[in-house]
Amino acid sequence: MSALEQELRARFGARLQCGRPLADLTSFRIGGPADFYLVVESEDELAVALAAATRNQVPAVCLGSGTNLLVSDRGVRGLVVKLGEAFDTISIDGVKVAAGAAAQFRTLVETVVAAGLAGLEFGEGIPGSVGGGLIMNAGAFGGEMARVVTAVHGVTGEGKCRALAKEEVGFEYRRTALPPRFVITRVGFELTPGDREVLLGRVKELHAKRAARQPQGFPNAGSVFKNPPGNFAGRLLEGVGLKGARVGAAAFSDQHANFIVNLGGARAEEVRALIELARSQVRDRTGVVLEPEVKLIGDW
Ligand SMILES: Cc1cc2nc3c(=O)[nH]c(=O)nc-3n(C[C@H](O)[C@H](O)[C@H](O)COP(=O)(O)OP(=O)(O)OC[C@H]3O[C@@H](n4cnc5c(N)ncnc54)[C@H](O)[C@@H]3O)c2cc1C
Repeated sequence: MSALEQELRARFGARLQCGRPLADLTSFRIGGPADFYLVVESEDELAVALAAATRNQVPAVCLGSGTNLLVSDRGVRGLVVKLGEAFDTISIDGVKVAAGAAAQFRTLVETVVAAGLAGLEFGEGIPGSVGGGLIMNAGAFGGEMARVVTAVHGVTGEGKCRALAKEEVGFEYRRTALPPRFVITRVGFELTPGDREVLLGRVKELHAKRAARQPQGFPNAGSVFKNPPGNFAGRLLEGVGLKGARVGAAAFSDQHANFIVNLGGARAEEVRALIELARSQVRDRTGVVLEPEVKLIGDW
């Protein structure tokens, strides 16, 4: 038994899982096992787990709802930590909203709209957790997390609780620059008062737009590539004839070229091969270098 396993086993007992497959925790339904997998139910537990991994020089990564991840077929070395139900909270105080990092972003949108607060409607239909949404600076239809976030709370790799001001998050298009191993536990937002009926109408409109654009029926992880400046990844991929292109059981969707779908039993290697194929074809034919939006984690 490794030193890390000994330490975590002593504190968490049977809650620490070894070799837990991760595929069912991702929207792609793809991926091998985590060496160590732990669901934590308090900041204190999170701090203990992160500090133990760091002290033992073992990698540690936080899994949100797995909707933007491609997990390697070989799995993830080290500790995969997930925030449990205790982090699934939403509270509203006037125009200020605090959400636990495990709350679903969609639930947050529904809750604030029902309370007549404007600013998060863009998040209608974005799957995943508040923590994952913050890390990805999730956005759609011209809106993004960065515009409404005021504060971020979390735990460092050394196990210290920290509150970060918005400026420290380093928001950019679909990325942030938080310190390595920093796990977000809570996010503060400031919204504006709005008319509930108008907000509901806007959400309904965005729901219909999304339903018309996105492929239905097969597991996927949303847009595979970020849109390059002044262009759309989907348009470039379609332009080089990749719509419908397939490697094994992974394929670029017939409906939207920037989505890779798992047709059933796809392997991470097959998805990665499609990503590499697309990057090289688009680069060779248009000179544009596509940057993946989906995060590849694990042992490649
Ligand atoms: C059908 C579909 C549609 C989508 N549409 C959109 C869209 O319109 N706009 C958009 O921006 N995205 C979209 N996405 C992508 C995805 O939903 C978002 O990126 C989402 O915010 C990811 O959240 P998650 O909880 O699933 O994060 P995960 O996929 O679990 O993780 C993403 C990254 O965040 C890290 N992470 C997660 N939680 C934490 C935490 N608490 N602390 C520290 N690190 C953490 C992970 O380590 C990983 O690096 C879509 C995905 C799907 C499947």
